[in-house]
Amino acid sequence: MKVKNYGKNEACDLLFLIKSNMNIIRRVFDIKGAPLLAGMFVLLFLAEGRRQLRKRNQPRLKRAVINSLVSIPAFSLLRFLFLPIMIRLAFESRQKGLGLSHHYDAPPLVKGLVTFLILDYTNYLWHVLNHKLPMLWRFHLVHHTDPDLDVTTALRFHFGELIGSVFYRGAFVLLSGATALQVVVYEILFEAATQFHHSNWQLPYRLEKQLSKLIVTPRMHGIHHSMIREETDSNYSVIFSFWDRLHRTIKLNVPQNLIVTGVPSYDNPHELTIGYLWKLPFTKIRKWDSLSELRDVRGAATDNADMAE
Ligand SMILES: [Zn+2]
Repeated sequence: MKVKNYGKNEACDLLFLIKSNMNIIRRVFDIKGAPLLAGMFVLLFLAEGRRQLRKRNQPRLKRAVINSLVSIPAFSLLRFLFLPIMIRLAFESRQKGLGLSHHYDAPPLVKGLVTFLILDYTNYLWHVLNHKLPMLWRFHLVHHTDPDLDVTTALRFHFGELIGSVFYRGAFVLLSGATALQVVVYEILFEAATQFHHSNWQLPYRLEKQLSKLIVTPRMHGIHHSMIREETDSNYSVIFSFWDRLHRTIKLNVPQNLIVTGVPSYDNPHELTIGYLWKLPFTKIRKWDSLSELRDVRGAATDNADMAE
């Protein structure tokens, strides 16, 4: 009888803990993070309208509609599948003492920073894998087919890419021992950084050059969306830019007005309808046509060179 009561209490405690962890999504993501991200989106949209970095190929409103509609399944899954699973894994990690943070002593701030760096570094590697593994490239390709690059590109992700990331990113939530709060805060900063570095906002050159030593900036990420393969295969970082420096995958010396954005074999904007983008990963994927003539004319980007305007 005693054992049965204890089990019941334990189950209640467990349920309470799971519920309070899940409440973090509502308290931190829904009430604080989502309005913050929406406000930041509007500000970046206005800023890139006033100070444009790269020339545009498509009307802004049309782009906003296409990219927003493409994002609906992915963002619904982010809120109702990805985040609850990550929170649950953070909870399991703590309960079972699985993750790294449960195996050393340090002030909470230091532990938080270590976890943050692990999550950001593993996201750099995840982005590299998205480009190198054909199975993952099918889905990530949808993001790269955007013929322009601005804050709305930050929305353009196929839901399949998000489903794939649940397994990979979930594993590192477990292994790092991230808390539920750290998971949600990292996700908000991840989305904010994604909006910022995709934006077509021209920051003062000197400021951006300094900023790019720490975080990914619009000029830096603009090169990652180039139609020249060697340039796309660079600048994979999400929040901190030093992962690209560490792995020598950084390229900065491409002038933004010389970048042709998109994927050469998917360069017909009339073909890239919302329906087509949703089914694209399930079709035969075309090879990346080379744009060697363009590279020959202006010269290829070199590693570790100074940032070009
Ligand atoms: Zn990419």
